[in-house]
Amino acid sequence: MEPIIVLHGGAGNIRLEDREAYLKGLIKARDIAYDRLESNQSAQQAVLAAVVNMENNKHAFNAGKGGAINRDGVVESDAAIMLGNGSCGAVAAIKNTLNPILIAQKVMAETETILLVAAGAEALVDKPIENSELLTPRTLKALERWKKTNETGSNTVGAVALDKDGNFAAATSTGGRLGKMPGRVGDTPIIGAGTYATTEMAISCTGEGEAFITAVTAKELSIRLEFQKPKEAMTKVLNDVKRFNGEGGIICLYQKQIIVAFNTAQMAIAWKKPNANYAKVSSKAQIMIID
Ligand code: ASP
Repeated sequence: MEPIIVLHGGAGNIRLEDREAYLKGLIKARDIAYDRLESNQSAQQAVLAAVVNMENNKHAFNAGKGGAINRDGVVESDAAIMLGNGSCGAVAAIKNTLNPILIAQKVMAETETILLVAAGAEALVDKPIENSELLTPRTLKALERWKKTNETGSNTVGAVALDKDGNFAAATSTGGRLGKMPGRVGDTPIIGAGTYATTEMAISCTGEGEAFITAVTAKELSIRLEFQKPKEAMTKVLNDVKRFNGEGGIICLYQKQIIVAFNTAQMAIAWKKPNANYAKVSSKAQIMIID
C-alpha cells in the first residue's frame, strides 16, 4: 500500500511574521514522518515522529515548547493518539513535559486507562522539566497581547498517517487556547472530538475546542464519510462547529483520500505521498480533496 502523511500546524490566526517558521516546521516534520513510512515503519511511529518534531519546534506552533500560555502564565498541554484498531491514549492539563504526545502514547501502551489529567499524567513523565522551559518570547508576547486585547489564538499540531500495511493513526497535541482558564481542557485529548481513527480513516482537528467538543466533530465526520461525499460531510461538520460559535480546521485520511478543510483566517497544512507533496500556510478557507 502507498503510504501517506498529512499534518496540520493549526487553524486560526497565524501571524504574518510567523508564517515562514510554520512552513519550514511543517515541511521538516512532514519529511521526517514520511521517511518513517517509506522505511516500513508504522502509521503510529510516523504520527508520533511528526508531532514530536512540531512540539520540539520553538519557532512555530502551539504545542510543547511554544505552547499557548494560560492566564496564570503556565503552559498546560493536552494531547491524544489513536490507532485504527481502536487503541488510544490521551493526557490533559500536563505541565512538566516537552512532549505531551509521548505521554499520551504511554497512557495508551502502558496503562489500563485512556485519559489521564494533571498530576496523574505528570507522574508518567520520566524526566520532568520546569514549566518555564516551555515559554518562548513569541508566546510571552502573545500572552501580553491577549491581556490587552483579548486576541486569542491557538495553532495546535496534528498528524494522520496511513502506512504500507494499511494501518491508520492520528495524533494531536496543543497548549490549548491562549489565555485559557487554568484547568481548561479542549477537544484535542477527547477521543471522537479532536482526535479519532478507525480501520478506514484518521482525523485530527484544530480550532475552538469547546465547539469541537459540543459537535463531537471527529466522530461525526467519521460516520458521515460512510454515507456522504467528503465535501458534503466536511461542510456539515464545520457548519456544526460554527453553529456552536467555533471555527477551525480538520485533516482527514479516508481510505486513500486526503481531505482537509478549514473556515478560519489561516491553516497550516502539509501532506506527502508517493510522487506528490504539499505544504502551505493557507489563507483561503477551503475544502481540499486529493485522491
Ligand atoms: N483545539 C485546541 C483547543 O481548543 C486549540 C487549537 O486547535 O488551536 O484546545
